[in-house]
Amino acid sequence: MLADKDRIFTNLYGYQDFGLKAAQARGDWDKTANLMKAGQDAIIEEVKASGLRGRGGAGFPTGMKWSFMPKAPTPERPNFLVINADESEPGSCKDREIIRHDPHKLIEGALIAGFAMRARAAYIYIRGEYIFEAKVLEKAVAEAYSAGLLGKNAAKSGYDFDVFVHRGAGAYICGEETAMIESLEGKKGQPRLKPPFPAGAGLYGCPTTVNNVESIAVVPTILRRGAAWFKSFGRENNHGTKLFQISGHVEKPCVVEEEMGIPFRELIEKHCGGIRGGWDNLLAVIPGGSSVPLVPAAMMMDVPMDFDGCKAVGSGLGTAAVIVMDKSTDIVRAISRLSYFYKHESCGQCTPCREGTGWMWRVMEKMRTGNAEIGDIDTLYDVTKQVEGHTICALGDAAAWPIQGLIKHFRPEMERRIHEAKGDDMLEAAE
Ligand code: SF4
Repeated sequence: MLADKDRIFTNLYGYQDFGLKAAQARGDWDKTANLMKAGQDAIIEEVKASGLRGRGGAGFPTGMKWSFMPKAPTPERPNFLVINADESEPGSCKDREIIRHDPHKLIEGALIAGFAMRARAAYIYIRGEYIFEAKVLEKAVAEAYSAGLLGKNAAKSGYDFDVFVHRGAGAYICGEETAMIESLEGKKGQPRLKPPFPAGAGLYGCPTTVNNVESIAVVPTILRRGAAWFKSFGRENNHGTKLFQISGHVEKPCVVEEEMGIPFRELIEKHCGGIRGGWDNLLAVIPGGSSVPLVPAAMMMDVPMDFDGCKAVGSGLGTAAVIVMDKSTDIVRAISRLSYFYKHESCGQCTPCREGTGWMWRVMEKMRTGNAEIGDIDTLYDVTKQVEGHTICALGDAAAWPIQGLIKHFRPEMERRIHEAKGDDMLEAAE
């Protein structure tokens, strides 16, 4: 279990004030200019050496992403950093905790990351529903400006840097990086075709990197304590500490910072007081937010909670939003509800997603009531495969994967419902 001394987010639960003075007492903004003195390329190398992978779901190496930014931006075409605080994935609630209790970690991280990428400014795009969090963040940014930590000669580093807070309007798809850029530009939040990638042409056509809140907020601590310290947690290719968000049928749902790779069972026992009704009552787990496939209980128990561990059981770590379902769950209904979410949030730009998400949800509803034919299960699977990988952004995959997981692991339950609705003799149907 991660020791308290190794926790990055020391005010995750808001026991102390979020303001600048309290943040400084916790070590934030301590000689930030000295950290920046190492130079832009050295900071990028240090982040690369730490093994930090993006905490927004995709897990792309953060330092490498930063290195794609142009080294000599011009005043006409500056570099930008965009921070993705549009946390909308069902199950995810970690960035919310960082912003409302530890916002200065994010703001200091924005300055250092922005400096490393030679960015002129950072835009923090915050989810519209996060009203309280947006107020906290705006207050913290104003404090940082008043203290000379942002703006001209930010934190006496000799570097000019601005941070803007931009509130979204509640569309899930604006969490996709290019849709976020469109939305920041004042347009409808629809993903762009890639290439060009944002590092080539992003916000206002300028080079842009979009990073998750947690990825940026951990950077000052990594630089202060050293890449080797961060890398000492977890295992090869899956390093560092991570915020896990555990919801659903556990005794005590929570957000907790832990070492990457902590076994699932240990995570739940140590921090959540176990499964409601005991371990025998566990049905399935969605380990990384609603867009990754579910994993049945028997396969999940000893999974190391990191990118490779979740991938090995056919799922993904995603944002580490762990949704626990016990045996009281109507699993077909639960996945159907997720299908409705993706149908609702499709931006409608590409046909497989616009038509496919609605079609999949309608068939999932038939599966829920049992008002379907056995052959419909294969047709449904087939359609998920036609949507997956054939769309502009990953929302198509996100809609397809939970259904694929359901069919893979709970096909007998889907068939049982269909037989039951038809009044078939269950013994005969099983033969
Ligand atoms: Fe829009 Fe869906 Fe296409 Fe993404 S996959 S661009 S959400 S229609």
